[in-house]
Amino acid sequence: MRLLLRLQNGVGGKGFSLSRSEPMRRPGRSPVGDADEPPKPSDPDAPILPRDPDKKPGWFGPMRVMGVFIACLMTVSAVFSVLAVLRDPPTNGVPAEGGVREVTAPKAIGSDELATSQTVVEKTSELVGGLLAAGFDEGSCLSRYQSVLFRKESKHKPSSYLISRLRGYEALLKRCGPHSDSYKRTLEMLKSGHSMGTSDCNYVVWISFSGLGNRILTLASAFLYALLTNRVLLVDPGVDMTDLFCEPFPEVSWFLPSDFPLKDQFKGLDQNSPHCYGKMLTGNSLSKLEIPSFTYLHLVHDYNDHDKLFFCDEDQSFLQSIPWLIMRTDNYFVPSLFLIPSFEQELDKLFPERENVFHFLGRYLFHPTNSVWGLIRRYYQTYLAKADERIGIQIRVFDTGLGPFQHVLDQILDCTTRENLLPRTIEEGSPEVSSLNQKSKAVLVTSLSSGYFERIRDIYWHDPTTTGEAVSIVQPSHEEYQQTEKETHNRKAWAEMYLLSLTDVLITSSWSTFGYVAQGLGGLKPWILYKPENRTAPDPPCRRAMSMEPCFHAPPFYDCKAKQGVDTGDLVPHVRHCEDMSWGLKLVDPHDN
Ligand code: GDP
Repeated sequence: MRLLLRLQNGVGGKGFSLSRSEPMRRPGRSPVGDADEPPKPSDPDAPILPRDPDKKPGWFGPMRVMGVFIACLMTVSAVFSVLAVLRDPPTNGVPAEGGVREVTAPKAIGSDELATSQTVVEKTSELVGGLLAAGFDEGSCLSRYQSVLFRKESKHKPSSYLISRLRGYEALLKRCGPHSDSYKRTLEMLKSGHSMGTSDCNYVVWISFSGLGNRILTLASAFLYALLTNRVLLVDPGVDMTDLFCEPFPEVSWFLPSDFPLKDQFKGLDQNSPHCYGKMLTGNSLSKLEIPSFTYLHLVHDYNDHDKLFFCDEDQSFLQSIPWLIMRTDNYFVPSLFLIPSFEQELDKLFPERENVFHFLGRYLFHPTNSVWGLIRRYYQTYLAKADERIGIQIRVFDTGLGPFQHVLDQILDCTTRENLLPRTIEEGSPEVSSLNQKSKAVLVTSLSSGYFERIRDIYWHDPTTTGEAVSIVQPSHEEYQQTEKETHNRKAWAEMYLLSLTDVLITSSWSTFGYVAQGLGGLKPWILYKPENRTAPDPPCRRAMSMEPCFHAPPFYDCKAKQGVDTGDLVPHVRHCEDMSWGLKLVDPHDN
């Protein structure tokens, strides 16, 4: 997230509008109009699976009977061990989803079932509600199959329409994906510079840009846009995308081929490029008589009024005729797609509940690679699995200066105690609770700094809790500052977002896409720490989120029909201003109080 420009947005704030003194020049209406194998023993990340030691039939001697008996005992004991590691009993009553739901145990999966990868696959598909396609090599992406063992079952179910559209998209990708005949034909158009009639395959190319949390959110936005416009999404691998994410679609890669002709020009594409859609509108260089083969969509936080016309129906209609759209964005722009009339009906059917768009698209698209999954799995099993309840605290401080800051620490502790998320501690000399509460809470802290973790850990080490609960505090890494050159830096960031998503109760920092990813993947409505002003802890310190959806930080405020400014957070009940950014937009379930 870019602080400076977000602040600039803030100055414009809610009152900013896309109204103009002169009417926008447009190309006119488009003629197009409409818009299995079990894990390999050599794999260090594969689960250790107890196996039946005796596979030869027809041998019934007393030694064998004794052997079978011992093997049975060992198997039963191993089943209990696995269940103990994966157990997740009900909480001590801290409300999670919507403030009323008790945290429930995941479907316990025994060792015999673990041994059968097919069963895990079935569980995966059952638990992800049919979201994931079959037909993958399990060993190449263990997280796709094993994540169900670490997650609670989602209370949200994808619509059957979403599932059928995803299967349809996978079929489209097979027909139009990289190296297909259609891809090659459309590539010829790109090389010629002109759209030569209609193409049976159209594309949106996502440029890798910004921090990892931003990238995950923008990729989900671009995918939804591709789904709505029947385009194929191609992903610029950037420096580390292949290292972080498994291929999400069966058989065909979502990565842009390395010989893609415009690849070397990505860096130079900006608002002033002649191919930028907003720029073309200003210069009146778009014509329906000579449709370009590609245009660059600048949807970055600093975009101007012309770039923002992307969110108007008339422009969408014209864009349909351009085979290649190259998109750069650092925004979760999904809420504004819900305000485009021609997408309305389709989005209604895809996401009838509205607030689970990223939850489903995120779980469908983003599977950690085996190296990242190893980080997640080992950390979870070692530090989080055994606790009765897991609490995530995501600390992102946008103030200048190194920190840790006392006001941030005060704010966190105020939030956790006021909202009964963590027990209070008893001051030195006060009588301790006599009953020994057996409940344990594991607190996962993520932050660039280690200071907050150390202070909270010391508090719960030095003083007993009023409830007698044992509270452990852990933090996987403290990278000190955002880095781009270090290979493992974003692996850790991705692992930590994912670990946060595996918690039962989540506390996040305002404005942070890192936290949005965790809440969306986890299906969690977090408590959001308000952004401190003047280095003072805000009062109240936090509030419960309205929905688990991320916030669109730089939405347009423009009524395309009336051609004047409008508060886009006040048009429909399911698109509201965000809790943590008054001018941002987010999706909410209008039926959820
Ligand atoms: P945002 O800036 O909070 O919206 O999140 P982004 O993920 O887009 O960018 C922040 C980047 O800083 C991350 O991608 C990481 O590289 C790094 N970062 C920020 N907070 C943490 C943290 O708690 N843990 C780790 N490992 N990295 C972090």
